[in-house]
Amino acid sequence: MCGIVAYIGNRKAYPLILKGLKRLEYRGYDSSGIALLENNKLNIYKKKGKVADLEGELAGKDLQATIGIGHTRWATHGEPNDVNAHPHYSNNRKLSIIHNGIIENYSSIKQNLIKKGHIFLSDTDTEVLIHFIEDIQWETGGSLESAVKLALKEVVGAYAIVVMSVDNPRQLIAARKGSPLVIGIGVDEYFFASDATPIIEYTKNVVYLDDYEVAVVNDGKLSIQNLDNTETIPYIQKLEMELDTIEKGGYEHFMIKEIFEQPRSITDSMRGRLHAGEGQLLLGGLNNHLDNLAAANRIVIVGCGTSWHAGLVAEYLFEELARVNVEVEYASEFRYRNPVINENDIVIAISQSGETADTLAAIELAKSKGATIFGVCNVVGSSIARATHAGAYTHAGPEIGVASTKAFTAQVTVLALMAIAVAKRKGTISIETYQELLLELEAIPAKVQKVFENASKIKEIAFIFTYARNFIYLGRGLNFPVALEGALKLKEISYIHAEGYPAAEMKHGPIALIDEDMPVVFLATKDSSYEKIVSNIQEVKARKGRVIAIITEGDTFIPGIVDFVIEVPKTHELLTPLVSVIPLQLLSYYIAVMRGRNVDQPRNLAKSVTVE
Ligand code: GLU
Repeated sequence: MCGIVAYIGNRKAYPLILKGLKRLEYRGYDSSGIALLENNKLNIYKKKGKVADLEGELAGKDLQATIGIGHTRWATHGEPNDVNAHPHYSNNRKLSIIHNGIIENYSSIKQNLIKKGHIFLSDTDTEVLIHFIEDIQWETGGSLESAVKLALKEVVGAYAIVVMSVDNPRQLIAARKGSPLVIGIGVDEYFFASDATPIIEYTKNVVYLDDYEVAVVNDGKLSIQNLDNTETIPYIQKLEMELDTIEKGGYEHFMIKEIFEQPRSITDSMRGRLHAGEGQLLLGGLNNHLDNLAAANRIVIVGCGTSWHAGLVAEYLFEELARVNVEVEYASEFRYRNPVINENDIVIAISQSGETADTLAAIELAKSKGATIFGVCNVVGSSIARATHAGAYTHAGPEIGVASTKAFTAQVTVLALMAIAVAKRKGTISIETYQELLLELEAIPAKVQKVFENASKIKEIAFIFTYARNFIYLGRGLNFPVALEGALKLKEISYIHAEGYPAAEMKHGPIALIDEDMPVVFLATKDSSYEKIVSNIQEVKARKGRVIAIITEGDTFIPGIVDFVIEVPKTHELLTPLVSVIPLQLLSYYIAVMRGRNVDQPRNLAKSVTVE
């Protein structure tokens, strides 16, 4: 959600920041802006809409600045318009700020500042923060750095900020709490960004700022202190990301590129962990905690959106294989209850970005109650990866399309590895089942590849249903979370209303919706509930619903009773979601494209949901 890019060095800041903002577009935003410091003047340019609108506005301008800050805003306080877009000025226009997050106590600070004569131009909480910093600096007569720290000590909420001052064109000040901020270190130049994608082109040396840390670049030197002025030595990490992973590579959209990448991303999520031939399964991050996991009374899985669906798949896996009680919770609900949780519980937090605000808060709550927390995240160095006791990265590579695809299958793969490892440690599965699961996991990437052979058929089905107004997705067992995920994908990118249900629940309500205009997607692979799902299909057909069934290769019965079938290869029942979700991703993608939707950046959605 929202993007920050800032630069100080010898290059021209404007094109670099603009490109960086484009790289961050996938995070979701509604307006953008840039502040440049040039010839002792601090100029701010901002515009509602896409970064391209800002670019259009600035076309032909000779912008030579070598220091600047840029922002894509996802409005929380004040409607998306030119005035509320960031950057914002301080009262005397000598300071400028970009901000990601929410200043919760902005209202009382604003009232005080108004009494002191401050005039506010926007409705944002962000403008209040920069006026507050200015006011503190004026009151104390201290440095800008100390004013920033003093202001942040008073602030309630979440922030990643970068501040620039006309009085010091050799300085940028950045800070974070709860919202991500990465600093790229080049030769005589520094980059600040919400994630590494705008930086990767210029340097692989980065520092992930921690909560309550303030980073100052002054005269070419970086120093990091906490709000109490204690210095920390910057821990410089090497980015492993490659530039081509954040570019479209010939595809029309990131989403389709990422769907087709899944054989590779699933392989990457198992790389170095699974050696089926030798019967070996090693999860580096969990090795020292396997006993802990095996002894758990209960596992509570928290996540949001697609990650929550991966959690539901994991519930089946852990219960079936490791015979442990599992509960799957929406992080946003869990954190606002008073959940019964203690030191015998294990919490598994799932998040693609590793920055999901609700999941982070759920982790802190569970930690305060003594539980051990494991993280399953995609983004290396993310807040959740750092807030958990241990964990396993999904290694799916950067996911740019807002609708998650390869991150989901990577999450399910890693959770399957975890469940198998715990089951082995507990002795709850036979050696034959263990070996069979490992071999099947290793075979999954090729099976996913095989599903792609149906892409043109799926496209034809998508064409037929392009203008459907509703969709129902039904599945049982492990295919129930897949039904939910299929419905979510369709909603997210095509804006068609879609519902996912456990197939047997249909009779308890949704069946009332079935008529000849209602497309119903059945997950009907050959597994232990096959006979039951066939009955459910018959019930829908009896009411003239139009059925698209995802079936196991070679099934000759279902094609005779439904309107359309899409085949997927047979795999172990517990691993079915890894193949059965693929046609649903493709179906949503093609429908959305045919409807002319912005597939990679659907309206109102953000990739990394850093606000509650
Ligand atoms: N709360 C700020 C605003 O509404 C920042 C939102 C963001 O993270 O983009 O302007």
